[in-house]
Amino acid sequence: MKFRYQCSECGECFEITPDLYTCPRCGLHQGKDEPLRGILEVAIKGKIGEKFNMFDFLPVEQEYFPPIPVGNTKLWRPTNINEKYNFPNLCIKDDGSNPTGSFKDRASYLVAAFAKKHNINDIVLASTGNAGSSMAGVGAAAGMNIILFLPKSAPEAKMVQARQYGAELIIVDGSYDDAYELSMQYHEQHGCMSRNTAHQPMTIEGKKTVSIELFKDLGRAPDYLFVASGDGVILSGIYKGFRDLMQFDLIEKMPVIYSVQAENSNAIFRAINDGKFDGKKAHTVADSICVDIPKNGYHAVRQLKEYKGRCVCVSDEEILAAQKELSSDAGLFTEPAGATAFAGFLKEKKNLENNASIAILTTGSGLKDIKSAMKMNNILNKSRQD
Ligand SMILES: *Cc1c(COP(=O)(O)O)cnc(C)c1O
Repeated sequence: MKFRYQCSECGECFEITPDLYTCPRCGLHQGKDEPLRGILEVAIKGKIGEKFNMFDFLPVEQEYFPPIPVGNTKLWRPTNINEKYNFPNLCIKDDGSNPTGSFKDRASYLVAAFAKKHNINDIVLASTGNAGSSMAGVGAAAGMNIILFLPKSAPEAKMVQARQYGAELIIVDGSYDDAYELSMQYHEQHGCMSRNTAHQPMTIEGKKTVSIELFKDLGRAPDYLFVASGDGVILSGIYKGFRDLMQFDLIEKMPVIYSVQAENSNAIFRAINDGKFDGKKAHTVADSICVDIPKNGYHAVRQLKEYKGRCVCVSDEEILAAQKELSSDAGLFTEPAGATAFAGFLKEKKNLENNASIAILTTGSGLKDIKSAMKMNNILNKSRQD
């Protein structure tokens, strides 16, 4: 197998080295308040055997991955929900069951291996919470120093997690976008590895493993897949995984991917319609997908258009109701961003065939943000008393 970086805008290829982050040419057109230009993807050349192993798809050899069990998360049918809505082939893929409790571990795992391969021991990033606690945990297993910029609004559990794993934490008096700016300055000054989402090409590449697992578990690709989007990197990772599977003739067509956003944090949805990222201030209970300017916005929008993906927006009330329903009907306590995918399904189900194969990706554990769930339970208790 041969791996190279390829620019998602101009298509030019480059050797994979840890100091190349975005396309040197397209990156020159980077404006200030807009998504990243010249996002690099990993292009693969070669053949894959029928009995492939996940590492065959990845651009870093297995020996460099840290000793922590990331991925291979459970896929199961929540039969109460299957019966309630008459969708017998709906499954949940719960990535909240990753070692640090979120989908972000898939990216951190590959980034840590990439750094290890190149003898880099310091990794810096900004995060709304999960990417940071994930890199801190996976980095701990790899024996690395993690420098983490977090907005002060990040849920307490995610901060505690990062501290507990031993990361160096810098709490920023501002938004995630402000923390991102500071982490990029730190990266320029100190020259360590950046794990900033989308900026580090291995974040998209690491996230693709979920599609390959879905294919292995189902024996096919699902017809529909629902995922919540903030920066749009999980979305691109999902597309990348299915594109790899198509490249090796393992699947024939791209599933319909639903990118679900909170209605007051829906920059990708808005850009699909008018092509622009206006930077409008985002707010939602689903902190993991609260983003003003999605870092991977251009690339995400391009792929949604090319593969006829669909965008749905849901309100905070719909997110909290979906979170409660997943908990009380399926026994799955996922954080608000994780439940956003399910809220998207509930909104869209009238447009889907009942026998379709549907995957709902729940991306984080509910214990990471108990405040939102407390809010919902208070509302329910109140209405019971009324
Ligand atoms: C990061 C995250 C998302 C969104 O991923 P993006 O790549 O930013 O679109 C969704 N859910 C959870 C729990 C997350 O941590």
